[in-house]
Amino acid sequence: MIFNIQHFSIHDGPGIRTVVFFKGCPLRCKWCANPESQSSNAEIMWLENECLRCKSCHVIENMNFHFEDDRLEWGSPCAAVQKIEIQDSTRRQIEMVCPTKAIQVVGKERTIEQILAEVEKDVSFFSESGGGLTVSGGEPLMQGEFLVSLLKEAGKRKIHRAMETSFFARYEVVRKAVQELEYLLVDVKTFDEKLHIENTGVSNKIILENIARIRSDFPNLPIKVRTPVIPGVNDTDQEIEAISNFVKSLGPNTEYELLKYHRLGISKYKSLRRNYPLADVVLSEEKFRHLNTVREKNLWQQINTIAYDGSHI
Ligand code: SF4
Repeated sequence: MIFNIQHFSIHDGPGIRTVVFFKGCPLRCKWCANPESQSSNAEIMWLENECLRCKSCHVIENMNFHFEDDRLEWGSPCAAVQKIEIQDSTRRQIEMVCPTKAIQVVGKERTIEQILAEVEKDVSFFSESGGGLTVSGGEPLMQGEFLVSLLKEAGKRKIHRAMETSFFARYEVVRKAVQELEYLLVDVKTFDEKLHIENTGVSNKIILENIARIRSDFPNLPIKVRTPVIPGVNDTDQEIEAISNFVKSLGPNTEYELLKYHRLGISKYKSLRRNYPLADVVLSEEKFRHLNTVREKNLWQQINTIAYDGSHI
């Protein structure tokens, strides 16, 4: 179940990359910029500004599309029926009927062949830039078996493979996937376990353990640890110091990067009929610069050698 394939990305691993977004995530980060990635099922998004209010969608079977206070509603009027099964026939009707694509079905089952056909359109950019395929999400490890098969096939086709992950998964699953990678990006959102539970819904213990075990099992694999800096959650010297020290303890071939909080995903919550769970917060440039200084100070003795030599297995 994939919800997007994005071409020409330059922030998801080395070079120019094609990012395949897996649907479904075990975390519920309050600041999540891709709320459409969280559920493992296909779901409806309504783009209010694209809608003509033509009501053509009202004829689509099984979805009960209708307007309430100028907002499109759908699904069962019974609150107990939460999950809507979106059949292929419904998907086809939506694509045919809505003239502006204001209704979108997010998430589609795709085969390995279909995904790689899309990825391989970009191979000339990969070879020129040192880029490749990045699997992201959601959490790709939630579809572990399919993920490993996809990575293996990409490897056979000599495509450079990276993964963006929370590492919230059993170690056996993690290991099988990492074995197929040339580059790894993994998030540490907070070091404090209580903060992690409060803000993501899960403990960080398994995440930190998985990172340390993978570092030890694959000493040559380039790993970039990332922390999205969220105001009121982890924007403190204490948190960034603790994570920096953890990254430093991992040894060479490990980078650490801070990602600045942004609010680009907020409109998607409305489109999915959900509330944005984080308060109205802003991270100043000055604060972000300061936290980067804290990060650098605590990583001073770390040697980053992120050139992949193909010998991590
Ligand atoms: S068919 Fe599309 S454009 Fe027309 S009312 Fe429905 S969502 Fe809006």
